[in-house]
Amino acid sequence: MSTSYQTVTLKRGKQESLERFHPWVFSGALANVPASVEEGDVVKVVTAEGRVVGVGHYQIGSIAVRILDFADTEIDAAFFRSRLTRAYALRQTLGLRRPDNDTFRLVHGEGDFLPGLVIDIYGDTAVMQAHSPGMHFARDIIARELTEIDGLGVKNVFYKSETTLPYKADLDPVDDYIIGGANVSCVSTENSLRFNIDWLRGQKTGFFVDQRDNRALLQKYARGRRVLNMFCYTGGFSVYALRGDAELVHSVDSSAKAISLTDANVELNFGKDCPRHKSFAEDAFKFLDRMDDGAYDLIVLDPPAFAKHRSAIRNALRGYQRLNAAAIQKAAPGTVLFTFSCSQAVSREQFRLAVFSAAAQTGRRVRILHQLTQPADHPVNIYHPEGEYLKGLVLYIE
Ligand code: SAH
Repeated sequence: MSTSYQTVTLKRGKQESLERFHPWVFSGALANVPASVEEGDVVKVVTAEGRVVGVGHYQIGSIAVRILDFADTEIDAAFFRSRLTRAYALRQTLGLRRPDNDTFRLVHGEGDFLPGLVIDIYGDTAVMQAHSPGMHFARDIIARELTEIDGLGVKNVFYKSETTLPYKADLDPVDDYIIGGANVSCVSTENSLRFNIDWLRGQKTGFFVDQRDNRALLQKYARGRRVLNMFCYTGGFSVYALRGDAELVHSVDSSAKAISLTDANVELNFGKDCPRHKSFAEDAFKFLDRMDDGAYDLIVLDPPAFAKHRSAIRNALRGYQRLNAAAIQKAAPGTVLFTFSCSQAVSREQFRLAVFSAAAQTGRRVRILHQLTQPADHPVNIYHPEGEYLKGLVLYIE
């Protein structure tokens, strides 16, 4: 049976990437979009010869269609249930829902065959983010299906798309609960550590779930070290370092709100006024500039995305170089440095080159101990390499 969705037609020969399951149709590949097609509609994509390649969400912009399925499939509640069930099955394979861990990403867009959708789980609350008008229109169905997945245990669904939907689409989304919202616990657990998650006002869905494995690795290096957690946000790395018996941990973020989140999370795990922890609401570059040589021997640099778009890559690379050079220069001999880039537009090679340039600038002896990436609950669809965004290097500085 075929669906009754409106049809958009590809230019001759433009189906190649779709035949290799790449889920985006660029506007330049389309020969014809009927005037009646509206932003957020589900459309059927056909070749110039009239063969159906798939169905997806239509959007005005350079990515015109995000393919939901490479077949003529009805996009209804059953479709979302099946996708969400598959997503949860993977997280069960990964062992992420445990008594000591209830914080994980359930849906990572294209990586879970749901382009334009992100869902993070915090205990019994799901925080859902739409990046496309199509997902925005489907939010109620998705929220309902989420609460019905066996074993997932979602009771509240918070929708948070005020900053992620295309501004021009004029959708005026409101950040609010779609389901539940009464007596919600905002404390969730990651590897036995507890975190206050502020999905109402926080960045992204309230927490950087993507650093879980890297924080656990940092803990292993922490014993007896003097730790600087730069760009600490909710203090994730700080809390793991304290658990790893760091001698002291200094957390720095330019946002006073982030500092109070960090302090609250340290208190939640280690009690009030933890003597090993101190936080500073200060600009990273100013802090690095005034800090003493050799003050730290375990350093984390996890800045916000310096390049949000391709056009900003050059400046971003300069920013990474400057930041890393400042840290490497003052690192104590024997320092372990965790340095990251979450800019999707910056490639792994470009980032490594920026860090190389930083090291060369200081003249220190630097070796790479680990090459880090995003965790398995942020899977990369092999046909959509753009889904890989987090890059990290762990360096040993002599
Ligand atoms: N490492 C964190 C995530 C970092 S998000 C984690 O594991 O959760 C980036 C943080 O950098 C934000 O909290 C933001 O407030 C902070 N930030 C942005 N620009 C900054 C600057 N110039 N100096 C210090 N902090 C900055």
